[in-house]
Amino acid sequence: MSAPYRSWIEVSRRRIAANFRAVRQLAGTDVEVCPVVKADAYRHGAVEVMRILTAEGARWLAVSSMDEGLTLRQAGATARILVMAEFLPGEREALLAANLTPVIHSLDDLRAFDHLAARAGATAAYHLKIDSGMGRLGVLAPPVEIARAVRAARSARLEGLMTHFASAADYTGVQTDIQIETFEAVLAALAAQGVSPPLIHLSSTIALAYGRRRAWRTMVRPGHALYGYVSPVRVRSGESAPVQELSVRPALAWKAALVLVKDVPAGARIGYGGMFRADRPVRLGILAAGYADGVPHRLGNKGRVIAGGQWAPIIGAVSMDVTTIDLSAAPDMRPGDAVTLLGTDGGLRQGAQQMARTAGTISYSLLCGISARVHRIYTD
Ligand SMILES: *Cc1c(COP(=O)(O)O)cnc(C)c1O
Repeated sequence: MSAPYRSWIEVSRRRIAANFRAVRQLAGTDVEVCPVVKADAYRHGAVEVMRILTAEGARWLAVSSMDEGLTLRQAGATARILVMAEFLPGEREALLAANLTPVIHSLDDLRAFDHLAARAGATAAYHLKIDSGMGRLGVLAPPVEIARAVRAARSARLEGLMTHFASAADYTGVQTDIQIETFEAVLAALAAQGVSPPLIHLSSTIALAYGRRRAWRTMVRPGHALYGYVSPVRVRSGESAPVQELSVRPALAWKAALVLVKDVPAGARIGYGGMFRADRPVRLGILAAGYADGVPHRLGNKGRVIAGGQWAPIIGAVSMDVTTIDLSAAPDMRPGDAVTLLGTDGGLRQGAQQMARTAGTISYSLLCGISARVHRIYTD
């Protein structure tokens, strides 16, 4: 296949739709699914993913910032949009104007949001995040104080209570169970004070995919799963892993063009620092993607890509704009041919989790790190 760009990703609309359907089927009709499209939908393109999910009937979307929410609104998003991370005090007005629903993380913010809504003459819904043990964003105040602040708000209406897990994939410990218990205790105390909003949500991909139903309540917030990934869980040795009940497939393939093919003699040193030394004559290929495109620098001398349906090891350092690969197993590759960094090629497949592990990082970081200069095309 000849390459249309130096480096590009191909995103399958059909896969994203199918993954969303699989998520909804598992969650069941009583649990609302709020797909997470933050960070430009983990680089799959938030606007296009919004369109795909809306066509599939998504009623909610979650993002991390006001900017991300505005981008979706400006592109015509009709779904409710939950802004999950903290927003800046100066952004509250724009949030209201664009009909974005904030997650509030402190009672001071709740009071400020209420004043703003009152001044705008609006009733504005918000979700409140409880810090149940993640120790990051979220309210830690005693439930009595929370209830007082919620009831005191005249124009801000509590629609959802949420929390987020720190170690959902770790089945060797009890942190997630403790977080659930802490959160449930807050819910019960709030209910006793007359505060019980309709939407209760704790779970992202892992708690959903491995069937931690106690944490599903009335809404779930999957991101990774939509794009085709479920991280493996850790279990104590000798114990059996929980069943992965969700089946999804990666929606993104990442490719780059070969820009040069050349033969170097035994003894040649390759790239910055001469990190690789050829112990035999090597046919090498220069790939038009480097760390500025998102290829992890730590794949130097240890990662691999797929060229002509064969594994092609990365040799030498990954540099800013190019990566050198060993084409010994695919000697017919020519400049202009496409090489696969992520996805399938011939009978081989490289997934983001596999590449991330080799680079000592996580698939989330790898996907989000595919840079803006990498073209994105959509396939059906
Ligand atoms: C990113 C995020 C999610 C989605 O997590 P995945 O593991 O990608 O499913 C859910 N909730 C919150 C608060 C998040 O920040």
